Amino acid sequence: MYNKEFFKNFIVRLIPMFEEHRDYLSKLDSDIGDGDHGINMSIGFREVQKQLDKLYEETEDISSFYRKVGMIILGKVGGAAGPLYGSLFMKAGDDVKGKNELTFEELVGFIENGIKSIEMRGKAVVGDKTMVDALRPAIDQMKEELGSGKGDLEIFESFVNELKEGSDKTIPLVAKKGRAMRLGERAIGFRDPGSFSSYLIYKEMLDEMK
Ligand code: ADP
Ligand code: MG
Ligand code: MG
Repeated sequence: MYNKEFFKNFIVRLIPMFEEHRDYLSKLDSDIGDGDHGINMSIGFREVQKQLDKLYEETEDISSFYRKVGMIILGKVGGAAGPLYGSLFMKAGDDVKGKNELTFEELVGFIENGIKSIEMRGKAVVGDKTMVDALRPAIDQMKEELGSGKGDLEIFESFVNELKEGSDKTIPLVAKKGRAMRLGERAIGFRDPGSFSSYLIYKEMLDEMK
């Protein structure tokens, strides 16, 4: 079971992770964007760090805790990623309101709800060279693996591998959404930064499961 504390510990892990990868994510973004993706994420999660204990105490279920975290991200991260990652957290818990523990199946649904809200907000589909290129194929594969008899950890490990592969697949693409769109064919050969931050986020969730 995945309880509220599990989600808090996961979010706590994201804070140093975004510090560690800040320059790399901004470097990816300077290749095909405006060079701020790592900075944006680190600013957002520094604010999350400041408020996390209070939000954890104030909220009585996973859904509302995550929603409050998402509101900070929405308010602080800025750019395109702020509203997208904000909604990933804000909408995840819509189907599990009132719950303080999730089964693995519910966790998969929780992650998918967040991804769906990114798709609804950003209107990107697989192949547009955005974070959706990592998130959508990976969650689809994880849903298929539910009930395959594999253990949670094994399934989640392949989810994270698939996120990395989805990010790798953005390299040869022309962008159809976001800032990189303006570059046309000049975006070919560069990784989409948001697809890599999506991979990094769920890699931390995997590490928290272990
Ligand atoms: P900005 O482009 O405003 O500077 P960031 O650099 O923080 O914002 O984030 C850029 C990332 O946001 C991109 O790498 C891409 O993955 C993601 N992104 C941009 N637009 C969209 C969209 N419409 N749908 C999904 N993801 C998007
Ligand atoms: Mg940027
Ligand atoms: Mg920007």
